[in-house]
Amino acid sequence: MAKYIFVTGGVTSSLGKGIIAASLAKLLQARGLRVTIQKFDPYINVDPGTLNPYEHGECYVTEDGAETDLDLGHYERFLNRPTSQANNVTTGRIYQTVINKEREGAYLGKTVQVIPHITDEIKRRVLLLGNEGQYDIVITEVGGTVGDIESLPYIEAVRQLQWELGNENCLVVHLTLIPYLRAAKELKTKPTQHSVRMLSENGVHPDIIVCRTEEPMTYDLKKKIALFCNVNVDAVIEANDVPTIYEVPLEMMREKLDVICMQKLHIPIRQEPELSRWREFLDKLKYPKSKVTVGLVGKYVELQDAYKSILESFIHAGAVNECKVVVQYIHSEFITPENVEEKLAGLDGVLVAPGFGHRGIEGKIAAIQYAREHQIPFFGICLGMQCAVIEFARHVMGLAEAHSTEMNPATPDPVIDLMEEQKKITAKGGTMRLGAYPCEIKPGTLAEKIYGTRMISERHRHRYEFNNRYLEAMEKAGMIASGINPETGLVEIIELPGHPFFFGCQYHPELKSTVENPHPAFVAFIKAAKSYAEGRKASNPLHAESSIHAI
Ligand code: GLN
Repeated sequence: MAKYIFVTGGVTSSLGKGIIAASLAKLLQARGLRVTIQKFDPYINVDPGTLNPYEHGECYVTEDGAETDLDLGHYERFLNRPTSQANNVTTGRIYQTVINKEREGAYLGKTVQVIPHITDEIKRRVLLLGNEGQYDIVITEVGGTVGDIESLPYIEAVRQLQWELGNENCLVVHLTLIPYLRAAKELKTKPTQHSVRMLSENGVHPDIIVCRTEEPMTYDLKKKIALFCNVNVDAVIEANDVPTIYEVPLEMMREKLDVICMQKLHIPIRQEPELSRWREFLDKLKYPKSKVTVGLVGKYVELQDAYKSILESFIHAGAVNECKVVVQYIHSEFITPENVEEKLAGLDGVLVAPGFGHRGIEGKIAAIQYAREHQIPFFGICLGMQCAVIEFARHVMGLAEAHSTEMNPATPDPVIDLMEEQKKITAKGGTMRLGAYPCEIKPGTLAEKIYGTRMISERHRHRYEFNNRYLEAMEKAGMIASGINPETGLVEIIELPGHPFFFGCQYHPELKSTVENPHPAFVAFIKAAKSYAEGRKASNPLHAESSIHAI
């Protein structure tokens, strides 16, 4: 039978519950246990697919095509295991299930209520992952902050499960903030005491308290928290700020978070954590031998979370190349053909990001034209790939008004068009082309060099696609389709032979990059950027140096 760990959060949001949950999972996995992580989000949207990236950051897509919270990206990057729809559940989905059952007559004669019907559905979804026999431990992260009205049914479900499963099968880790008051030069425990009290008022008592802090905690401070919050002093864990999220598992190991969890759950400790690959990655990350600057061209650049998986993929790929990747955000809305040279000055590579809608499109196209004409490594993802096709059609194939019908439904040359199966769809939620699809790679191409294989599978999230009516003309003009979906014929990868690195993909490679399996396309892109930087330095050392410093 699986054992269950619940992670709740107190005092404030953004404490990094997802990272703590993923770090604990990593340590337990490294000790030989089979672990998965699940997140409950207390909002009413059925999934985050309909949320603006400004609201909620990136929407992470799983193999099975679920649009999920970006924390699932962390779970996959840490554990190196795919997640699925079952790993992310929202209040909207819980209510939808219960209401559908009510309509079917499943509760005939009964008043349908938060307790027990909503809480039962929450519990069912927790136990679902554990009952399959695939996992020894299921970690469930409860989104939101204790005290929020929206979180109450989840806390109540945790209370019931604690009672039903028994203490040796279930524990609660509460993550909280210990603020540092600069004027008093002191760490303060009061907000933690209040949040633990609030949790206790709802019948849930934390077994372990993880304290986020910017200053080191003394033993006395831990003792104080232990006393006020009714936990053992060794169950008060310090989570100090660290330079990279990838150090958190090692910090948690130092604080023995994994050991305490295993002891409380009566799991025998058989092996020390096997983290050699993880440590190797960290070493390379901490001591890079060179540096590249890449431009991330997109329209959500104000919010880093909007491109979370891309940024993490750069970190993984940088470590493989033993190279620090400095990411320069470039707002596509402010790039014009006149200022593009200045905007892209000093860059060793340009990544044009995924996105939706018209805003910023012409800036993306201008950036791609510049990268293509100046032999700068280019990587286009989803909308970025579509823009590369539009740019090529306009400036090389001579189709001046070529466009995607997403931006201009009346274009005479719809080189990017709505997929056939999308034409009848009007509902927005969960209706894109989502999840993993196969792609066959043409021999002798950059794509083959990158992947080192001919059959790949990658994850998707889009409605529009390359219009195959233009394939022959495009290839004749010099841009080739090097990856095709073997079942549907949809173009998945485009590239420009002769260019040092020009790679556009309709899918999202960033969703599959993990610490232990960095994505080959990102690794190759950073490698190309490194060569470009070296070439620039060799041809004009003074210029290369000054432009890097200017960033
Ligand atoms: N807006 C484009 C489409 O729907 C691209 C989507 C994306 O970049 N994820 O096809």
